[in-house]
Amino acid sequence: MIPDEDRPDADMARWLHVSYHHGRSCLSDADTGRYQMSKLYFTYGAMNCGKSAALLQVANNYEERGMTVIVAKPAVDTKGGDAVTSRLGVSRPVDVLIGAGDSVRDVVLPVALAKRTSCILVDEAQFLSEGQVDGLHEIAYGDGIPVMCYGIRTGYLGTGFPGSIRLLEVADELRELRTICRCGKRATMNIRKIDGKPDFADVGHQLAIDDGTTDAVYESVCPRCWHQAKMEWLREKKRN
Ligand SMILES: [Zn+2]
Repeated sequence: MIPDEDRPDADMARWLHVSYHHGRSCLSDADTGRYQMSKLYFTYGAMNCGKSAALLQVANNYEERGMTVIVAKPAVDTKGGDAVTSRLGVSRPVDVLIGAGDSVRDVVLPVALAKRTSCILVDEAQFLSEGQVDGLHEIAYGDGIPVMCYGIRTGYLGTGFPGSIRLLEVADELRELRTICRCGKRATMNIRKIDGKPDFADVGHQLAIDDGTTDAVYESVCPRCWHQAKMEWLREKKRN
Protein backbone atom coordinates (compact mmCIF):
# COMPACT_ATOMS: atom_id res chain seq x y z
CA MET A 1 0.00 0.00 0.00
CA ILE A 2 1.53 3.27 -1.08
CA PRO A 3 0.94 6.21 1.28
CA ASP A 4 -1.08 8.96 -0.38
CA GLU A 5 1.73 11.49 -0.35
CA ASP A 6 4.08 8.99 -2.02
CA ARG A 7 1.86 8.34 -5.00
CA PRO A 8 3.49 9.79 -8.10
CA ASP A 9 0.17 10.71 -9.69
CA ALA A 10 -0.96 12.59 -6.57
CA ASP A 11 2.36 14.34 -6.47
CA MET A 12 2.19 15.25 -10.14
CA ALA A 13 -1.33 16.66 -9.72
CA ARG A 14 -0.16 18.77 -6.77
CA TRP A 15 2.94 19.82 -8.63
CA LEU A 16 1.07 20.85 -11.77
CA HIS A 17 -1.29 22.84 -9.57
CA VAL A 18 1.73 24.68 -8.15
CA SER A 19 3.15 25.15 -11.64
CA TYR A 20 -0.13 26.56 -12.84
CA HIS A 21 -0.20 29.15 -10.11
CA HIS A 22 3.45 29.78 -10.55
CA GLY A 23 2.76 30.57 -14.19
CA ARG A 24 0.21 33.15 -13.13
CA SER A 25 2.42 34.67 -10.49
CA CYS A 26 5.16 35.23 -13.05
CA LEU A 27 2.96 37.17 -15.46
CA SER A 28 4.78 40.35 -16.25
CA ASP A 29 3.22 43.50 -14.90
CA ALA A 30 1.64 45.28 -17.88
CA ASP A 31 2.25 48.70 -16.36
CA THR A 32 5.87 48.42 -15.41
CA GLY A 33 7.02 45.58 -17.63
CA ARG A 34 8.76 44.16 -14.56
CA TYR A 35 8.29 40.65 -13.30
CA GLN A 36 6.39 40.46 -10.06
CA MET A 37 8.04 37.35 -8.74
CA SER A 38 11.27 36.05 -10.08
CA LYS A 39 13.01 33.20 -8.31
CA LEU A 40 15.39 30.34 -8.85
CA TYR A 41 13.50 27.03 -8.66
CA PHE A 42 14.92 23.53 -8.49
CA THR A 43 12.78 20.50 -9.21
CA TYR A 44 14.70 17.33 -8.51
CA GLY A 45 14.19 13.62 -8.31
CA ALA A 46 15.66 10.25 -9.10
CA MET A 47 16.17 9.15 -12.66
CA ASN A 48 13.01 8.43 -14.66
CA CYS A 49 10.87 10.55 -12.35
CA GLY A 50 9.34 12.58 -15.17
CA LYS A 51 11.41 15.77 -14.89
CA SER A 52 11.48 16.41 -18.63
CA ALA A 53 7.72 15.83 -18.87
CA ALA A 54 7.22 18.33 -16.02
CA LEU A 55 9.44 20.89 -17.76
CA LEU A 56 7.55 20.50 -21.04
CA GLN A 57 4.26 20.88 -19.16
CA VAL A 58 5.43 24.16 -17.58
CA ALA A 59 6.56 25.43 -21.01
CA ASN A 60 3.09 24.61 -22.29
CA ASN A 61 1.42 26.38 -19.32
CA TYR A 62 3.31 29.58 -20.11
CA GLU A 63 2.73 29.45 -23.85
CA GLU A 64 -0.99 28.85 -23.41
CA ARG A 65 -1.04 32.28 -21.81
CA GLY A 66 0.79 33.83 -24.71
CA MET A 67 4.11 34.07 -22.87
CA THR A 68 7.51 33.01 -24.13
CA VAL A 69 9.87 30.57 -22.47
CA ILE A 70 13.31 29.42 -23.51
CA VAL A 71 14.71 25.99 -22.81
CA ALA A 72 18.39 25.48 -22.05
CA LYS A 73 20.45 22.45 -21.16
CA PRO A 74 24.09 21.58 -20.60
CA ALA A 75 25.78 20.46 -23.81
CA VAL A 76 27.29 17.48 -21.94
CA ASP A 77 23.89 15.80 -21.87
CA THR A 78 23.81 14.05 -25.22
CA LYS A 79 20.51 12.29 -24.69
CA GLY A 80 18.00 13.60 -27.22
CA GLY A 81 20.63 15.74 -28.99
CA ASP A 82 19.58 19.37 -28.84
CA ALA A 83 16.04 18.61 -27.71
CA VAL A 84 14.32 17.97 -24.40
CA THR A 85 12.62 14.62 -24.71
CA SER A 86 10.28 13.05 -22.19
CA ARG A 87 9.73 9.33 -21.93
CA LEU A 88 6.13 9.88 -22.95
CA GLY A 89 7.39 10.79 -26.41
CA VAL A 90 6.90 14.55 -26.24
CA SER A 91 9.89 16.54 -27.41
CA ARG A 92 10.92 20.15 -27.86
CA PRO A 93 14.02 21.78 -29.35
CA VAL A 94 16.48 23.40 -26.98
CA ASP A 95 17.06 27.14 -27.47
CA VAL A 96 20.45 27.28 -25.77
CA LEU A 97 23.06 24.58 -25.20
CA ILE A 98 25.34 25.50 -22.31
CA GLY A 99 28.92 24.39 -22.90
CA ALA A 100 31.07 23.15 -20.01
CA GLY A 101 33.05 26.39 -19.70
CA ASP A 102 30.30 28.80 -20.76
CA SER A 103 29.16 31.74 -18.68
CA VAL A 104 25.37 31.41 -18.53
CA ARG A 105 25.02 35.18 -18.46
CA ASP A 106 26.88 35.31 -21.78
CA VAL A 107 25.02 32.48 -23.51
CA VAL A 108 21.55 32.33 -21.90
CA LEU A 109 20.73 35.92 -20.98
CA PRO A 110 21.02 37.48 -24.49
CA VAL A 111 18.63 34.85 -25.92
CA ALA A 112 16.21 35.35 -23.01
CA LEU A 113 16.22 39.12 -23.47
CA ALA A 114 15.92 38.96 -27.27
CA LYS A 115 12.84 36.71 -26.96
CA ARG A 116 11.37 38.75 -24.07
CA THR A 117 11.07 35.50 -22.21
CA SER A 118 8.89 35.06 -19.13
CA CYS A 119 10.81 32.08 -17.80
CA ILE A 120 14.04 30.18 -18.44
CA LEU A 121 13.70 26.39 -18.15
CA VAL A 122 16.87 24.35 -17.66
CA ASP A 123 16.86 20.58 -18.14
CA GLU A 124 19.52 18.17 -16.81
CA ALA A 125 20.68 20.93 -14.45
CA GLN A 126 22.80 18.46 -12.45
CA PHE A 127 25.46 18.82 -15.15
CA LEU A 128 25.85 22.57 -14.64
CA SER A 129 28.91 23.78 -12.81
CA GLU A 130 28.64 25.59 -9.50
CA GLY A 131 29.52 28.86 -11.26
CA GLN A 132 26.82 28.33 -13.88
CA VAL A 133 24.19 27.85 -11.16
CA ASP A 134 25.42 31.08 -9.58
CA GLY A 135 24.96 32.73 -13.00
CA LEU A 136 21.35 31.51 -13.12
CA HIS A 137 20.85 32.82 -9.60
CA GLU A 138 22.03 36.21 -10.77
CA ILE A 139 19.67 36.12 -13.77
CA ALA A 140 16.72 35.30 -11.48
CA TYR A 141 17.45 37.95 -8.86
CA GLY A 142 19.57 40.50 -10.73
CA ASP A 143 17.87 40.50 -14.12
CA GLY A 144 14.42 39.56 -12.89
CA ILE A 145 13.74 36.51 -15.07
CA PRO A 146 12.45 33.39 -13.29
CA VAL A 147 14.67 30.34 -13.77
CA MET A 148 13.32 26.83 -13.27
CA CYS A 149 15.92 24.07 -13.15
CA TYR A 150 15.21 20.34 -13.37
CA GLY A 151 17.70 17.67 -12.47
CA ILE A 152 18.76 14.52 -10.72
CA ARG A 153 19.81 15.03 -7.11
CA THR A 154 22.39 12.26 -6.79
CA GLY A 155 24.22 9.84 -9.06
CA TYR A 156 24.25 6.06 -8.72
CA LEU A 157 26.94 6.22 -5.99
CA GLY A 158 24.59 8.25 -3.83
CA THR A 159 26.60 11.47 -4.05
CA GLY A 160 25.39 14.78 -5.38
CA PHE A 161 26.15 16.27 -8.77
CA PRO A 162 27.95 19.65 -8.57
CA GLY A 163 25.03 21.49 -10.21
CA SER A 164 22.46 19.85 -7.95
CA ILE A 165 24.45 20.50 -4.79
CA ARG A 166 24.71 24.20 -5.63
CA LEU A 167 21.02 24.37 -6.58
CA LEU A 168 20.04 22.76 -3.27
CA GLU A 169 22.09 25.47 -1.57
CA VAL A 170 20.78 28.54 -3.38
CA ALA A 171 17.42 27.78 -5.02
CA ASP A 172 14.54 29.61 -3.42
CA GLU A 173 11.98 26.92 -4.13
CA LEU A 174 12.76 23.23 -3.99
CA ARG A 175 10.38 20.59 -5.26
CA GLU A 176 10.78 16.87 -5.35
CA LEU A 177 9.25 14.87 -8.16
CA ARG A 178 8.49 11.47 -6.77
CA THR A 179 8.67 8.11 -8.32
CA ILE A 180 8.17 4.63 -6.92
CA CYS A 181 10.70 1.87 -6.22
CA ARG A 182 10.01 -1.71 -7.34
CA CYS A 183 9.13 -2.45 -3.67
CA GLY A 184 6.47 0.27 -3.61
CA LYS A 185 8.38 2.77 -1.47
CA ARG A 186 9.45 6.21 -2.60
CA ALA A 187 12.46 6.05 -4.92
CA THR A 188 15.10 8.68 -4.17
CA MET A 189 18.29 6.93 -5.36
CA ASN A 190 19.59 5.29 -8.52
CA ILE A 191 21.17 1.97 -9.34
CA ARG A 192 23.41 1.65 -12.37
CA LYS A 193 23.08 -1.70 -14.11
CA ILE A 194 25.30 -3.44 -16.62
CA ASP A 195 23.82 -6.50 -18.32
CA GLY A 196 20.91 -6.29 -15.92
CA LYS A 197 23.16 -6.46 -12.82
CA PRO A 198 23.77 -3.62 -10.36
CA ASP A 199 27.24 -2.14 -10.79
CA PHE A 200 28.62 0.26 -8.20
CA ALA A 201 32.08 0.62 -9.75
CA ASP A 202 33.05 4.30 -9.73
CA VAL A 203 33.19 5.44 -13.35
CA GLY A 204 32.62 9.11 -12.52
CA HIS A 205 29.45 11.11 -12.87
CA GLN A 206 30.27 12.42 -16.30
CA LEU A 207 30.72 8.95 -17.70
CA ALA A 208 27.46 7.88 -16.17
CA ILE A 209 25.33 9.90 -18.54
CA ASP A 210 22.41 7.94 -19.87
CA ASP A 211 23.06 8.73 -23.53
CA GLY A 212 21.75 5.48 -24.93
CA THR A 213 25.17 4.50 -26.29
CA THR A 214 26.52 2.72 -23.21
CA ASP A 215 25.26 -0.59 -21.88
CA ALA A 216 24.33 0.97 -18.56
CA VAL A 217 20.70 1.33 -17.61
CA TYR A 218 19.43 3.04 -14.48
CA GLU A 219 16.75 2.06 -12.04
CA SER A 220 15.36 4.48 -9.47
CA VAL A 221 15.00 2.80 -6.10
CA CYS A 222 14.38 3.52 -2.41
CA PRO A 223 17.41 3.79 -0.07
CA ARG A 224 16.74 0.33 1.35
CA CYS A 225 16.81 -1.40 -2.04
CA TRP A 226 19.87 0.70 -2.98
CA HIS A 227 21.83 -0.57 0.05
CA GLN A 228 20.67 -4.11 -0.50
CA ALA A 229 21.89 -4.01 -4.13
CA LYS A 230 25.18 -2.44 -3.05
CA MET A 231 25.83 -5.10 -0.40
CA GLU A 232 25.08 -7.86 -2.89
CA TRP A 233 27.44 -6.25 -5.39
CA LEU A 234 30.22 -6.05 -2.75
CA ARG A 235 29.69 -9.70 -1.75
CA GLU A 236 29.80 -10.73 -5.41
CA LYS A 237 33.00 -8.75 -5.91
CA LYS A 238 34.67 -10.46 -2.94
CA ARG A 239 33.81 -13.89 -4.34
CA ASN A 240 35.44 -13.15 -7.71
ZN1 LIG B 1 12.69 -0.31 -2.61
